[in-house]
Parts: sequence; C-alpha cells; structure tokens
Amino acid sequence: MQQSGGVLYVVATPIGNLADMTERARKVLTDVDLIAAEDTRQTLRLLNHFGISANLVACHDHNETRVSHRLLSALEDGRDVALVSDAGTPLISDPGYSLVSAAREQGFTVVPIPGPSALICALSAAGLPSDRFLFLGFPPRSRSQRQAWLKDVAGEPGTLILYESGKRAVATLSDVAETLGDARRVVLARELTKRFETFLFGSATELARRVEEDAEQQLGELVILIQGRGTGGDGAGREEQERVLRVLADSLPLSQAAALAARLTGAKKNSLYRLGLDLGLGGEGE
Ligand code: SAM
Repeated sequence: MQQSGGVLYVVATPIGNLADMTERARKVLTDVDLIAAEDTRQTLRLLNHFGISANLVACHDHNETRVSHRLLSALEDGRDVALVSDAGTPLISDPGYSLVSAAREQGFTVVPIPGPSALICALSAAGLPSDRFLFLGFPPRSRSQRQAWLKDVAGEPGTLILYESGKRAVATLSDVAETLGDARRVVLARELTKRFETFLFGSATELARRVEEDAEQQLGELVILIQGRGTGGDGAGREEQERVLRVLADSLPLSQAAALAARLTGAKKNSLYRLGLDLGLGGEGE
C-alpha cells in the first residue's frame, strides 16, 4: 500500500452557472500541481474566469488509460493532481473511472470535492419520488437498442433518470412511451442553472409532442426523469382499476378478477384484490 505520494482530487465544476463553483474547488484547482481535464480548452475558460493558472493535461475517453500512467507517476512523485470534466462531477457519464480505480488500487489518497451534478440538480426539483432512483446515463443511439435498454428497467420502482441531448429528446421520449407505457409522469429538466432553465411535465407522449412542436426545447442539454413502476404512475389510475375490477368481479371470483385486472391495468394483483375487498366485491368463500 502507498503510504506517501500525492493526492488525487476529484473536483466537481458548474453545469452552466459559474456562480455554482465552490470555494473548495477553487482552492484545490489553485493549489494542485496538475489538472487532468476532459477538454483543456473548456477548463482553461473556467480557470481564466477565476484567475487560476495551472498545468493542464488532457484526459478523455480516448486517452484515459495512457494518460493515467503519467498521472499516477506524478502522484508517485508526490505531486497533487485534480481531475475535472467539462461540467459537473467527473465519472458521472464522464471520464475518470480508470484513473480513480487505478489510484485506489495503488493506494493513493483520493479526495472528492463535491459540487453540481445534473442528475441530482434535476431530481431535487422535479417533484418525483427521490427516496429511490436509478441513474441510467445516456440511452443507446439505435432505436432497437434503446427500447431494449428501457424494457430492461421497466420493473424498477425508483425514479429513472436519463441524460439526453435536446436533439434526440423526441426520439427517446417516443421510445419511453412505447416501452414503459404512457401513464407514468415524466419530467424534462433542460438547461439547468442556465438562463433558459426549463422544467416540463407530462406523459412521455405529451412531452414528445411539445418538444417536437417547439424547436427551442430541442436545444441544449437535458435530464429526463421518469416515474418508477408501481409508484402510482404506471398502469391505469384508481378510477379505471375500480371500473375494470367491478366488471370482472361481476362474473368471476375476486382472486381471478384481480389477476385479470392486473394484466389489463398494469396495477399489482394484491393491491387490486385489496381494492376489491374494500369495495365489497367478494373475498374469502367468494
Ligand atoms: N458529469 C456531468 C454531471 O455530473 O452531471 C454530466 C456530463 S454528461 C457528458 C452531459 C449530460 O449531462 C448532458 O447531455 C445532459 O444530459 C446532462 N447535463 C449536463 N449539464 C446539464 C444542464 N445544465 N442541464 C440539463 N442537463 C445537463
């Protein structure tokens, strides 16, 4: 295990609004010997804004493994290194995983400097359940792969969070409607922390239509949040569940009616059975 050596700082930077830069991030970026940046030109703009001069090393998806060796030897020599991405928290749909895991394996100290991340920023203000969520990153580009990828998480009860660009929003929202149904609440969080920050709410089909009709909504970056399964958003609403259950319970025992209603409405069989009991539609000895 490495006992000495430099420290690797993983530094979050703003996702649009430079006023979100933390004091600690500024101090660390000023003090370190090297800054590993996803795009050095982008990071240079940030550093110039804060009057920080630094030694920059490009570290992106295409050279991360090779550059990691150089950064690890800098740590070995006792030099401190900061890792930043273009925006937000490194490693979150951004480069850095190979470097951080190698630094950990070699026993270097790795210190996170927390700050903005688009997914947490969006979740904190979307109004969807936030006690459990699944972050999925970017959807695959091909339609069939994207649909398979969405189907795979159809049963997840937590809020689903996706990254997407405005240009591909309509295609992705249409696939959300097709694969997860259209009864879940969906939130589009666009241009967070920036001048044109917008939150749109609706079903996947409604939002696809709105974005398609309004070219402005196709600009910039966005986070798509989708209500998880079984949190009240999927399947039919309570009124429809009740209607279907009443019709079926007219000619079937409640357990069978609940099973069939579950298939028709997407609601859980047990909750439909309990609903049937509450409505006096049968039960034990039915
Ligand atoms: N590491 C970043 C983070 O912590 O959020 C994410 C980097 S990822 C390459 C870029 C994606 O994050 C964008 O395509 C978009 O989905 C999301 N994103 C980043 N900034 C955003 C913003 N200001 N508003 C909405 N979404 C944003």
